[in-house]
Amino acid sequence: MNKILAFNWKMNPTTRREVDSLVSVLAEAVGHTHDAQIVVFPPTLYISYLQQKQADMPLYVELGAQDISAEANGAFTGQISAQMLADMSIPYTLIGHSETRKYQHVTNEVVGQSVHQSLAAGVIPMICIGYTHHSQDHSIDYDALKEEIEAAVIGNEELLRMKSCVIAYEPIWAIGTGITADPEMIQTVMIFIKRTLRDLLGEIEIPLLYGGSINAGNSTDFVDIQELDGFLVGGASLKADQIPELVRVMG
Ligand code: PEP
Repeated sequence: MNKILAFNWKMNPTTRREVDSLVSVLAEAVGHTHDAQIVVFPPTLYISYLQQKQADMPLYVELGAQDISAEANGAFTGQISAQMLADMSIPYTLIGHSETRKYQHVTNEVVGQSVHQSLAAGVIPMICIGYTHHSQDHSIDYDALKEEIEAAVIGNEELLRMKSCVIAYEPIWAIGTGITADPEMIQTVMIFIKRTLRDLLGEIEIPLLYGGSINAGNSTDFVDIQELDGFLVGGASLKADQIPELVRVMG
């Protein structure tokens, strides 16, 4: 399976000029051919801008939205739907990022519905798990993980067997804190996720990512974890001096 390097820009940058300079760094780092798949999740407003840039210059990255509605369409002010992404040829969406769980009160139930919308529209959901209500406790919360996986999977089994999806394990205490989970812990969680998915879906290949304070300096500590297929990166994905090394490490 090819590695995946996903960049979550969150609500950054705030000008097209900064987008332009990030894109120049990315274009140079990624080059023309790259084994790993690079996926960028910019603010929604900049996705079309990036698509236009891609038409004018080689930028071999896929694009995604940072969230979608749990509904197909209708009176949901401020939201975008999976069908809109599909119509705009945007192949990915994040679903259930801990910041949407925290600030937009996205629940496991909403995650399950959004996963359904995404798969049904043919958009690849990158489902984030790792939220726990005991954020000071850095141990593995197996119950919370199982609940998150079940919420994303149950009811969507048939679609998940037919379509693509990605799961990103992002322990909430590792996001934006400079503290990463250690490689043994990540491996243990990857094995747990695989087993849980197998129990729910049978034999299935779903790429698994780790996210939480990955940067150019520490990514080599994790890249060889056998069960891991890549990284979801927040803060470091906005730093021109981090991007080339992150891309290089993915091979
Ligand atoms: C994220 O927000 O998905 C993330 C992993 O952030 P950071 O890399 O900054 O911890």
